[in-house]
Amino acid sequence: MPKITFQSLLRRSDIGANCYVIDTGIERIVLDAGMHPKEKGLEALPDFSLLPDDSADAIILTHAHLDHCGALPVLMRRQPRAHVYMSALTSELAAAMMHNSCNVMTMQRDQDGIKEYPFFTHREVDRIERSWLRLRMGRRAEIGECGAHVELYDAGHLPGAVGALLDLGGVRVFYTGDVHFEDQTMTMGAQFPEKDIDVLILECTRGASERRADYNREAESHRFGAVVTETIKRGGSVLMPVFAIGKTQEMLLIIHELRHSGHLSAHIPVHIGGLSSRMTQIIDRHADTERRRHAGFKILESLAGLVRAKKGERDLTSAPGRIYALSSGMMTENTASNDFAFRFIDNPRNSLCLVGYADSASPAGAILSTEPGGKVKLHSAHPPVALRADVHRFDFSGHAPRPDLVAYAMKVKPRKIMLVHGDAPALEWMAQTLSAALPQTEVIVPMPGEKIVL
Ligand SMILES: [Zn+2]
Ligand SMILES: [Zn+2]
Repeated sequence: MPKITFQSLLRRSDIGANCYVIDTGIERIVLDAGMHPKEKGLEALPDFSLLPDDSADAIILTHAHLDHCGALPVLMRRQPRAHVYMSALTSELAAAMMHNSCNVMTMQRDQDGIKEYPFFTHREVDRIERSWLRLRMGRRAEIGECGAHVELYDAGHLPGAVGALLDLGGVRVFYTGDVHFEDQTMTMGAQFPEKDIDVLILECTRGASERRADYNREAESHRFGAVVTETIKRGGSVLMPVFAIGKTQEMLLIIHELRHSGHLSAHIPVHIGGLSSRMTQIIDRHADTERRRHAGFKILESLAGLVRAKKGERDLTSAPGRIYALSSGMMTENTASNDFAFRFIDNPRNSLCLVGYADSASPAGAILSTEPGGKVKLHSAHPPVALRADVHRFDFSGHAPRPDLVAYAMKVKPRKIMLVHGDAPALEWMAQTLSAALPQTEVIVPMPGEKIVL
């Protein structure tokens, strides 16, 4: 049997980006092609020089978050023969993300002088999108001509997200991508294979944190409803920084449910930005798919009081009695939620609700570590702002809590586990816990560039 190897093309092993190569000796398959959200310029790309040009047969994208798909146009230019596989919904969302990314990079080139930006053009995205192969969940497809197959499984992370099962002439490798095993408000929990998997490539986003023992999503959403109601009553507004894909639509459906159950007034307008609007439109087009809660509910048409940003609208001003769901989720510089916060967080009537992952180095992370009344630096080019608004944190994560990751690995009992997509403490906790729970399994934290025989 030929030697099969795994290699991470990342520049460092942290939660930043995703890009891995499986090499069977005959075929090369690339799993995800993400951009690092905290890096700029070439440092944000995976180290594609580790993979010889024009040597890949297939590229598989798990979902449309930029840390999984943002570098695909660059990779496709270097790997022109590779067939690119993803779900139909991911193909629409990823193309929209890439077009937006073009605009962001062009702006950064002009503002910050990053010469290599943009990495790709709108025309290039339009062209490559036409060649992507859309796979149905659970349908086995041949990759290349040497007997390798791929099968996609619903990952429950956000609409369209999948895990990928590779059958490499009898050796079965499963890559989870980002996964949630529990139902969310919009997506149902993952349906992942458990049998006959030799190698498991497992995400570890939440490996370093313990979820409260009494956590339940419904109580969490009721707490969110109470914070909104209280804020509006005292004449303030609510800002929710959200990712444009996934978290935006999830929060809009939570608002819909809270109104329905009487936990939130139906008369509070909800503002969303241009990018979120575009992503919601795509997700609405797929509202009838079977593994979708609130099936058929089209958010843009049916959510009362939804206010979409007008085309070209940049400077949204805060008015009382409203909810603003603006991207980006971590309030990155030069995004709507960051711009908006300058005119928002110094008002003690307002509330800032952080509903997703916030890296400690991001502006949202800076807010979390600032005492009430203290000053917070939201943007490197602007003076700090006084934090007088209430800050609330909610757990509506789209990632599995760590006991669920461990429980899944224990059901699969693979020969080898590769731990990816986690910061050092998360990878360490997962490695220790899984080594103890599965003594027959080799648990590996792959180093960047290192080739590991599977
Ligand atoms: Zn993701
Ligand atoms: Zn991710």
